[in-house]
Amino acid sequence: MFNIFELGKNYGDNEVLKSITMRIDDGEVICIIGPSGSGKSTFLRCLNLLEVPTSGQIYYDGTLLDDKLDTKRLRREVGMVFQRFNLFPMFTVLKNVMYAPMHVNKMKKKEAEELARSLLAKVGLANKADAYPAQLSGGQQQRVAIARALAMQPKMLLFDEPTSALDPELVNEVLTVMRDLRKEGMSMVVVTHEMGFARDVSDRVIFMDKGYIVEEGAPVEIFNHPKEERTQQFLNRVL
Ligand code: ATP
Ligand code: MG
Repeated sequence: MFNIFELGKNYGDNEVLKSITMRIDDGEVICIIGPSGSGKSTFLRCLNLLEVPTSGQIYYDGTLLDDKLDTKRLRREVGMVFQRFNLFPMFTVLKNVMYAPMHVNKMKKKEAEELARSLLAKVGLANKADAYPAQLSGGQQQRVAIARALAMQPKMLLFDEPTSALDPELVNEVLTVMRDLRKEGMSMVVVTHEMGFARDVSDRVIFMDKGYIVEEGAPVEIFNHPKEERTQQFLNRVL
């Protein structure tokens, strides 16, 4: 799906991403772990063209991501879920989920409503369709945000620390929804501090530090037999 060559991103003199080369295949679930400031969010944002890379190339389904690629198509096919849920506060839950299919995909209202209701049921919130975001818990709001991303019927979802803003007892309800998506074969790239989730759910774990991919591999390799000292040090701190 994505083929990334020597991706670099600078903010002024600050080299935030340094020559990232990797591929992301259809149906893969990848977890990105690493210390604060290592460039994890910047990397995700480059995949969605929320940031313009300074150097290197990103191919999406064989097409070079540059001015020629239709950004709208990319954003439709690659959805993003953020740490802060960014729901529209003045819309009901149902309207939040219906909005993009109607206004971006030009779906008819009736069809968008059917889709939205089925997605709310999938994330366990069928009974909250008429509530407003402020009336929901953080975990419920994040599940609405996932339903809203799914409403574009994406091929892949990018998650940037989807549970970091949640109270600990609300984390699992969101991770459960993500586990279900995995079972359905959704491609996902998840930046997370939830090491249990990364270990159980991902096909591949990427450890980033200081703008580099220091080490990548199957979860059992990274968590049980890390090769690099920096990976070991990081895991010792967080596990
Ligand atoms: P965290 O775990 O804290 O979310 P991260 O790995 O996601 O960290 P990034 O947010 O990608 O890290 O940031 C990497 C570096 O880039 C940091 O030094 C940050 O200050 C810098 N940075 C990020 N966004 C910008 C921006 N828009 N302008 C300037 N510098 C930025
Ligand atoms: Mg971040």
